Amino acid sequence: MTSSLDGGPVHPATYDHGGGVRSLRVPIPDNPLGHTLVYVVDTDRGPVLVDTGWDDPASWGALTAGLIACGTSVTELYGVVVTHHHPDHHGLSGAVREASGAWIAMHAADGAIVRRTRATRPARWYAYMTDKLVAAGAPEEHVAPLRTARRRALPGLSPVLPDREIEPGELLDLPGRRLRAIWTPGHTPGHVCLHLEEDHPDRLPGHGRLFSGDHLLPGITPHIGLYEDPDDATVTDPLGDYLASLERVGRLAVAEVLPAHQYAFTDAPSRVRELLRHHEDRLADLRELLAEPLTPWQLAERMEWNRPWEQIPYGSRNIAVSEAEAHLRRLVKLGHAEAVTGSDPVTYVAA
Ligand SMILES: [Zn+2]
Ligand SMILES: [Zn+2]
Repeated sequence: MTSSLDGGPVHPATYDHGGGVRSLRVPIPDNPLGHTLVYVVDTDRGPVLVDTGWDDPASWGALTAGLIACGTSVTELYGVVVTHHHPDHHGLSGAVREASGAWIAMHAADGAIVRRTRATRPARWYAYMTDKLVAAGAPEEHVAPLRTARRRALPGLSPVLPDREIEPGELLDLPGRRLRAIWTPGHTPGHVCLHLEEDHPDRLPGHGRLFSGDHLLPGITPHIGLYEDPDDATVTDPLGDYLASLERVGRLAVAEVLPAHQYAFTDAPSRVRELLRHHEDRLADLRELLAEPLTPWQLAERMEWNRPWEQIPYGSRNIAVSEAEAHLRRLVKLGHAEAVTGSDPVTYVAA
């Protein structure tokens, strides 16, 4: 593996991880993430994919060519295990199923999101987002484009329904393999990691290998926002879910992590500790910012991002506000912040 711009290794187009596991680099067009790592796990009934990649002709070309380079083909696939519903993971699942007859498995919570996404009209979704942003204190000039966008169809919003549910804690139907589903909500409510409970092919110390999806990545902190759902008013705590899931995965003490982006890595427990510390520091910083009452939007403006707020593009600001709200939920839950009674839009202050 050569070096990338950020100093991390660049994953090759196909890579043999040993022990009947290979990975394919499937590009995500026009996205700084670059690619999804799709894993091919051999079973007695044919290869099974962990994730499929973005729905785009170039990505499909890379996936099918990669499978041939691995000595198989898309028609030979037995199943698809999806770590979570995001389009860079589940995008090509429908095309794979059509070409092969493979089943698609997903956790019920993300399956519910897929079902809802397919059923929600764009107008309803825009109205929901508008209301949410107004409630978060977004300025009118930010919300205005959403009010006029209501008739436009949303791109990429017809994900396919899964055929099977991934049961947390259970072994998946992979004849000849031991692959256990570990429910890791946070990045999405139904995110799963998949624990390959087999000796590491190079006998690295630890317990097997973990397909970690977007939950645990070597150099990226996954986005933790709200679980946006127009039909559910439950006050969830995605950041709390994420931190608990991280600890759960750290305790597995796996020999190697096979993530869905970047590159494979060892010493999962120290990466887990790093991420836990990152969020702890961030929560402490936000608590300081809340010395004065702030709306979620105002908090997002003051938080530290990878560039100044003025340079953050429109869509990313929505994601940033969602992330600010997830952190506020956590602070409120911990008793470290509270909503100011009577404020509209609601402001929060350190408690
Ligand atoms: Zn994701
Ligand atoms: Zn991803």
